[in-house]
Amino acid sequence: MSDAWTSKFFRRALNHVVLFTGTQVLFLPLNKNYTGRMLIWTIIEQIAVRSVVFPATGALQYNHSSPGDPFTMNKKSIASVADSSVSTALASKIFDELAVATGDGVGITRSSYGPGETRAIEIVDSRARELGLRTERDEVANLIVTLDGSEPELPFVAAGSHLDSVPQGGNFDGSAGVLAVLVSLAALKAEGVKPRRTIKLFALRGEESARFGKPYLGSSALFGRISPVDLQSRSTDTAETLAECMGQLGIDVDRVARGERFLDPARIAAWFELHIEQGPVLTDRNLPVGIVTGIRGNIRHRGIQCRGEAGHSGAVPRWLRRDAVFASAELITHLDRHWRTLLERGRDLVVTSGMFGTDQREHALARIPGNVQFSFEARSQSKETLESFYDLFLSECQMIGEERGVEFILDRRFDTQPASMDPDWIKRLRSIAARLGIQTEDLPSGAGHDAAVFANEGVPSAMIFVRNANGSHNPHEAMSLNDFGAGAALMRAAIEEAAQ
Ligand SMILES: [Zn+2]
Repeated sequence: MSDAWTSKFFRRALNHVVLFTGTQVLFLPLNKNYTGRMLIWTIIEQIAVRSVVFPATGALQYNHSSPGDPFTMNKKSIASVADSSVSTALASKIFDELAVATGDGVGITRSSYGPGETRAIEIVDSRARELGLRTERDEVANLIVTLDGSEPELPFVAAGSHLDSVPQGGNFDGSAGVLAVLVSLAALKAEGVKPRRTIKLFALRGEESARFGKPYLGSSALFGRISPVDLQSRSTDTAETLAECMGQLGIDVDRVARGERFLDPARIAAWFELHIEQGPVLTDRNLPVGIVTGIRGNIRHRGIQCRGEAGHSGAVPRWLRRDAVFASAELITHLDRHWRTLLERGRDLVVTSGMFGTDQREHALARIPGNVQFSFEARSQSKETLESFYDLFLSECQMIGEERGVEFILDRRFDTQPASMDPDWIKRLRSIAARLGIQTEDLPSGAGHDAAVFANEGVPSAMIFVRNANGSHNPHEAMSLNDFGAGAALMRAAIEEAAQ
C-alpha cells in the first residue's frame, strides 16, 4: 500500500462515513445537506443496490449514477483520460483568444447578434478551418463546423452550444460547449476516424435573453420559432430591433418572420450540449462532471401589484388595516409552505421573488404601506408541477386578498417550456463515463439551454455539465481545464458512439 494511497484514504475518510460491508469498503460523503434520516436511508440503499438516490434539502434530485466507487476504480486520472482523447491545450489556447478578443475590462461581452458574438464566431471558424474542418454559416448566421460521415444521407449528429454572453459575463458560459465539440472533432479528424454519420458542431447565436428579452434565439430561428413580435424587440444596449441586428448579419429577416424552418428536426439523430454548471452542486459534491436529466421551464410575472390602503401607522388598529406589505409577506410565506410540500412529494420546483418593494416615492417609516410590487418566478422540470403551483399561487392571492382587504393585480404571464433529456442517452452517457473512469452525478438544469429547443422539437437530446465555481453570468466563473477535459472526453465518446 503506497503512502499516497494511505494519505488519500485518510483524507477521504475524514469527510465520509466509512462503511465496511464484509466484501467492500463504502465511502458515503458527509454532505452538509444530509440529515440523520437521509444518511441512514443512504446507507441502506447503498448496501441494497449500490446506488444512491435521495432528495436533497433543495429542489435538486441527486442521483449517484456512477457504478463502483471512484476511489477504487478511477485509477486513470481524469487529466489522462482527457489528454488521450481530446486536446485540452488546444481548447485552452482558444479560450484565451476568446477572452482577449471579447474582454471588456471587467469580464467578457459577446452580445447576442452583436459584434462580440460575431468576433467569437470568427475565431472559432478560423481555428476550425486550420484544423482541416469544413465550416459555413447557416441561414440565420450560426456557425456550423462539419466532419463528414461515410453515409451522409443518414440523420446527422448535432452538438454545440452558444457563443453569445450577457454583458460583463464569464468566458466559459457557452464557449465551453462549443470548444468541447471542436476539440472532439479535431481529435477524430487527426486520428483519421471516419464516422458513419456526419457530425455537425453548432456555434449558436443569441442564447442569452439579456439583450432582446427572449432566450434561445439562434436555435429557435433554425426551427422557425421566432415571431414577428419577437423580431421587433429592441436591444437593451443600442435600442436596435432584433430584425435590424439580424439584417446587418445578412439574415433574410422576412423568411424568419414567416416562420420558415431552416432545419428539419427529423434530419438530426441526436443533440449534445456541454455547459458549465451554473449552480453549486458539482462543486459541493466534489465531482467534475454531471449528466443533465432535464431543463427547467418557468412561469414568470415581472411586476405584480398588491394594492391595499395607506394610513397612519399609529392611528389605524390591526383589524382596520389593509397593509400591502403584510399581505404580500403572507403570500410569500404561504408559497414557501406549498413549495416545501411539493418538494416532500418528490416534485422538482424552485421559487423566487427577486424584486420586491414598496414605492420609494410614497413609503415612510410611519405609514401603513398601501402598495407593494414584486416579481414571481417558478421553475420546474415538470409542466404539471408548474401549473399546479401556479394554481395554488392564484388561490392564495384570492384568499389573502379577501382576508386582508387587498388586491393582487397580475401583469403579463411569461412561460418557457421545460424539456426532458433523452432517457436512453442519459443511460448511455453514464456508462460511457464509467468506462472512462469519470465519476458523474445526475442533476437537472435550473438554467435554460438551447438543448431545450432541440428536445422540444423531438430531437433526442443530452447535456453534460462541468463543475464551475462561482455561478455564471459574472466574470468570476471558474472551470478547471482538467474538469473541462473530463467533460470534453465524455462529449467526444458520446458523439463518436452516436455517429456509428
Ligand atoms: Zn449559457
